[in-house]
Amino acid sequence: MYQTQYKRPTSIAEAAGFIGQSEGEGKYLSGGMTLIPTMKARLAAPGMLVDLRHIADLKGISVSGRRVWIGGGVTHFEVATSREIEAVAPGFTNLAELIGDPAVRHMGTMGGVVANFDPAADYPAALLAFGGTIHTDRREIGADDYFLGLFETALEENEIVTAVSFEAPDASAYEKFRNPASRYAMCGVYVSKRGTDVRVGVTGAGSSGAFRWREAEAALSASFEASAIDGLTVPQDDMIGDIHGSQEYRAHLVTVVTQRAVRKAKG
Ligand SMILES: Cc1cc2nc3c(=O)[nH]c(=O)nc-3n(C[C@H](O)[C@H](O)[C@H](O)COP(=O)(O)OP(=O)(O)OC[C@H]3O[C@@H](n4cnc5c(N)ncnc54)[C@H](O)[C@@H]3O)c2cc1C
Repeated sequence: MYQTQYKRPTSIAEAAGFIGQSEGEGKYLSGGMTLIPTMKARLAAPGMLVDLRHIADLKGISVSGRRVWIGGGVTHFEVATSREIEAVAPGFTNLAELIGDPAVRHMGTMGGVVANFDPAADYPAALLAFGGTIHTDRREIGADDYFLGLFETALEENEIVTAVSFEAPDASAYEKFRNPASRYAMCGVYVSKRGTDVRVGVTGAGSSGAFRWREAEAALSASFEASAIDGLTVPQDDMIGDIHGSQEYRAHLVTVVTQRAVRKAKG
C-alpha cells in the first residue's frame, strides 16, 4: 500500500496549484483509462491525483466555420457523436468511433490521449495530418513540434492539455487496421487534403509513435490517387516488430492502409 491524496479542482489554475503542492510525483486524472490500470499494476504510484473531470473550461466542442476546437476533457464518445465536427471533418468522428470499446469511449478523453501519446493512439495521426494545435495552460504547440517519440511529448512537468484545435481540410479520412484482440491500431493512417496539399499521419506502426509519412505526402500532393504510392514503403527499421507483426509486415501495412485511406477520402 502507498498513500495518495485525491484533489478535485474546478478550475485549471486550481488544478495546477494542487499538483505543485504534491509530495513526490503528482498526476492529473482524466478518464483514468490508462492511469488507473497503470496504478493497479504498480507502474505508477503518484502521491497526489488531481482530478480534471470537474473543470468546466476543459469541456466542450466548438466549430466556427471550419475551425474545430475540442476541450481536453472531451470524451471520445462526444467527438464520435458530434454533428458539428462530422459536418466539416467526418473522418475525424469516424476515427473516434473506432477507439477501443464503448466503455473506453465514454471515459477516455482527448487530453489523456494527447498527454499520454501511446504509440498506437489514434488521435495523433489526425492531428499530424491536420497540422493541428495542442493548447495547454502555458502555450500553444503545433502538432509537428508536440509529438516527440514513444510516450514523449513537448509537455513540460505538470503542464495541462486544455484543448486541441485544427482547421478542417477539404477532404480527409482515417483507416485503421486493428489488432483484433486489443482493438488498438496495428497501423492507422489519417489522410488529409487541403487544396493540392496532402498530409499523411501514421500511428500504431512506427517505433517512435505517430509520424508523418512525407514521401507519400509528396506523391499524393502530385496526384491524389491510391496508385500514386504504389511501390513506396516506409523504412522497415523504423517500424515496431513484435509478436503481433514483424517490422516488414508493418511497413507493408503502412502502404496498404494509406491507399485505403486515400480511396476513402476520395469517397
Ligand atoms: C481497453 C482499452 C482500449 C483502448 N483502445 C484505444 C484505441 O483503440 N485507440 C486509442 O487511441 N486509445 C485507446 N485506448 C486509450 C484510451 O483512448 C484512453 O482514453 C487514453 O489512453 C487516455 O486515457 P484517459 O483520457 O482516460 O486519461 P488518463 O488515463 O486519466 O491519463 C493518462 C495520462 O495522461 C495524463 N493526463 C490526462 N489528462 C491530461 C491533461 N488534460 N493534461 C495533461 N496530462 C493529462 C495523466 O496524468 C496520465 O499520465 C484504450 C484504452 C483501453 C483501456
